[in-house]
Amino acid sequence: RDEPVRILLLENINVSAVDMLKAQGYHVEEQKKALAEDELIAKLKEGGFSAVGIRSKTKITAKVIQEVPSLLVIGCFCIGTNQVDLLAAARAGIAVFNSPFSNSRSVAELVISEIVALSRQLCDRAREMREGIWNKVSKGCWEVRGKTLGIVGYGHIGSQLSVLAEAMGMSVIYYDVIPIMPLGSAKQVESLDDFLGQADFVSLHVPELPETTNMIRAEQISKMKDGAYLINNARGKVIDIPALIDGLKSGKLAGAAVDVFPSEPAANGPNFGDALNAWSSELRSCPNLILTPHIGGSTEEAQSMIGAEVGSALIRYLNYGSTLGAVNFPEVNLRPIIHDGTVRLCHVHLNQPGVLKVVNSILGEHNVEKQFSDSKGDIAYLLADIANVDEKEIKEIYEAIGGSRANIATRMLF
Ligand code: NAD
Repeated sequence: RDEPVRILLLENINVSAVDMLKAQGYHVEEQKKALAEDELIAKLKEGGFSAVGIRSKTKITAKVIQEVPSLLVIGCFCIGTNQVDLLAAARAGIAVFNSPFSNSRSVAELVISEIVALSRQLCDRAREMREGIWNKVSKGCWEVRGKTLGIVGYGHIGSQLSVLAEAMGMSVIYYDVIPIMPLGSAKQVESLDDFLGQADFVSLHVPELPETTNMIRAEQISKMKDGAYLINNARGKVIDIPALIDGLKSGKLAGAAVDVFPSEPAANGPNFGDALNAWSSELRSCPNLILTPHIGGSTEEAQSMIGAEVGSALIRYLNYGSTLGAVNFPEVNLRPIIHDGTVRLCHVHLNQPGVLKVVNSILGEHNVEKQFSDSKGDIAYLLADIANVDEKEIKEIYEAIGGSRANIATRMLF
């Protein structure tokens, strides 16, 4: 218990996280690059690390998990968690955290810039000037004040966008599958068809799901206002791109902005055309179309917020056992322990009948101040605060629970 927590941070994790983890007294080791599987196993084992922080390039495979029993927690300092074998991690009692919402504001701001740029045909004019063409036009160029923005998906990004758009004098309507309290004067519209016919700008902010794949295709575009604009900063598969091309080329749509594509290149560089799809060159020739390389959330602020969000999730888990926000564990939380003499049991176990009976029989003689457990698939997690236990009793509880049939991982925090 007197040893500092050892944490390895790979892939140049933001300083906001490094500072926060060091301030906890943890031993933090940083590396700029990702490590390949064997190097990672060797590094984690040699350093006795109990936590690792990665971004998208380091793969945490079942082999890494199996070979590094000291590992308690993985922090993905990014949005996606595909680079981690989440099931293998859960089955080994390793919680995984990420940062799904730190870049919401950055995406909302990009959309605002696209709304203004589309309604002024700004990108076409800027491109023409670079090509040496002076083309001063006002036809088909509009102020955004008084126009209606329709937001599909009123979650973290959609609701931020709503507030910013109203500040510019736009009216906001939104469509979502669940009833959500509107911010400001925004209004929820029940049917997607009604919604599409009312909006001058339609901006998509839904997750990628079977129901949202090709959610906006020829039929939906035909229901939009003539001369409306379509903006997709959500996920590439939400719009049927050939239908978007038809909408732009026919003049039904006055413009569009697309930041995300059904398939995207793995690395920066020229000649990405083929990586998008067969329709790529046709798409690139459309008028008043802003194409960006999935930069919605790419800001310095978002990186710093990701560092702070994942850094604090790691601290909450390591210090208090809280799994709030974990992607592969049930979410279990108790307030931080404040009394001297109180010990917190953190017990990851197989989700099987009879486990709580066993745990409670072990804790039966003690004063359990609080207890909370939950399950997710095969895995269950229990936190219990036990008052007035001495070192000998802590050891006895640890050994009994840790040795129980369904045990995956047990920690005692005090
Ligand atoms: P969120 O989970 O906070 O909100 C999504 C909303 O969509 C929820 O309110 C949900 O109820 C609603 N929804 C789900 N299915 C729906 C359906 N069929 N019809 C209508 N509404 C539906 O998500 P968020 O953080 O706001 O992110 C939205 C999207 O933006 C996600 O796809 C995310 O991956 C993407 N994103 C893109 C970037 C980028 O760089 N372009 C950055 C961050 C997030």
